Amino acid sequence: MTIDWETLNIAQEFVSATASTDKFDKSFHILISDGEILTPDSAPWRPLTEDEYQELNYSEESNHFLGTVSGIPVFANEIDPDADEPEGYSFKNLWSFLGRLDDATFNLLGKSKQLVDWYQNHKFCGQCGKPTDDSNADRSLSCASCSNLFYPRLSPSIIVLVTRGEEILLAKNVNARGNFYSTLAGFIEPGESIEEAVHREVYEEVGIKIKQLEYFNSQSWPFPNSLMLGFHAVYDEGEIVLQAEEIADAQWFHYKDMPNQPAMVSISGWLVSSFIKKLENKL
Ligand SMILES: [Zn+2]
Repeated sequence: MTIDWETLNIAQEFVSATASTDKFDKSFHILISDGEILTPDSAPWRPLTEDEYQELNYSEESNHFLGTVSGIPVFANEIDPDADEPEGYSFKNLWSFLGRLDDATFNLLGKSKQLVDWYQNHKFCGQCGKPTDDSNADRSLSCASCSNLFYPRLSPSIIVLVTRGEEILLAKNVNARGNFYSTLAGFIEPGESIEEAVHREVYEEVGIKIKQLEYFNSQSWPFPNSLMLGFHAVYDEGEIVLQAEEIADAQWFHYKDMPNQPAMVSISGWLVSSFIKKLENKL
């Protein structure tokens, strides 16, 4: 019996795991070549079955067990970076899937890409330069010579929507393309709590103090390995002073008169829309 990927509910049926122990006769394969994901031209995206993968006969650089869906193991397979596209398939970058797949499937592709990147970047120990070994116990690479352990890297970042009454503070990054405003965001520094990072980032980027920090939710953002932690906050004091190297402009916008906004595929968009919904329910 074959199981079609299209009939599976990935959000409900995918179970994440690090080590595949059982023998299996079926499997799904997410193929990555030179950072791009093999995708059937006839949408929507789906992984290859074990037969399809074997038939292509690619040389494999590494493989990573991701977990199971409906009991069937799912692997990310890193193949030859110069691999040719088979008939009816193309290699596509991760950005091209943003907002075009359900969140669970997108996160599975993001996880695959991040694991392949991690593996590529830690083939050798950063301390002594010797080749690393796969751990059987967990998802890590270890150095036999100096006992260093290398886990997949995540970069936690904060993202915060600051409001003042019916106004929303949005900023335009110096690197943003077009007239595009977004919520403030930045990486958490070593030695810092999440809350301290939010206060610091807001003060650094726009020179104001905030209060009533409230956690909203989070989003895996695999470009390349962020974990976005989203907050709502309320203006406390100060005038907007731009951090010129990072912020091209920042303004208070009335919620009924907004500039080009972040798309709903990102936590920035969710923060804005949740604030507006709350406001409109109150009015
Ligand atoms: Zn070492």
